[in-house]
Amino acid sequence: MSAASQVAAPSGTKEIAPNVCHICGFTGCGIGIGFTSPRDNDPRWLCTDCTMLIEDIKKVKRMTAYEMRAREGGVEAAAPVIAAYGSRLEEYTDEQAAELAGVIWAGCAKRLREIIRSGDAPF
Ligand SMILES: [Zn+2]
Repeated sequence: MSAASQVAAPSGTKEIAPNVCHICGFTGCGIGIGFTSPRDNDPRWLCTDCTMLIEDIKKVKRMTAYEMRAREGGVEAAAPVIAAYGSRLEEYTDEQAAELAGVIWAGCAKRLREIIRSGDAPF
């Protein structure tokens, strides 16, 4: 989700979303890890939970590998919702589908932070 902090503006230029966590995509809190050199133009905002890992986040070199491994957390988080509502997504109400998406997103973000915090490379 590292690209989540940049969105395409209608004009085709990139604008920086001011309130999206660079790591997990949840709402940012106004603290970023960007601007480490004069050429940086992305503040790389963080959410409150991710600010607790700033020093660990700075050590991550290949975020994609962490994101790929973090998907396991989303799968695990989805299991109880699927157990409750069934495996046929087309039969879900809009609220149930949104709940499933929410728990998957939160599960991925939680696992991503756990992996980053552990200091172990996910590959
Ligand atoms: Zn975050």
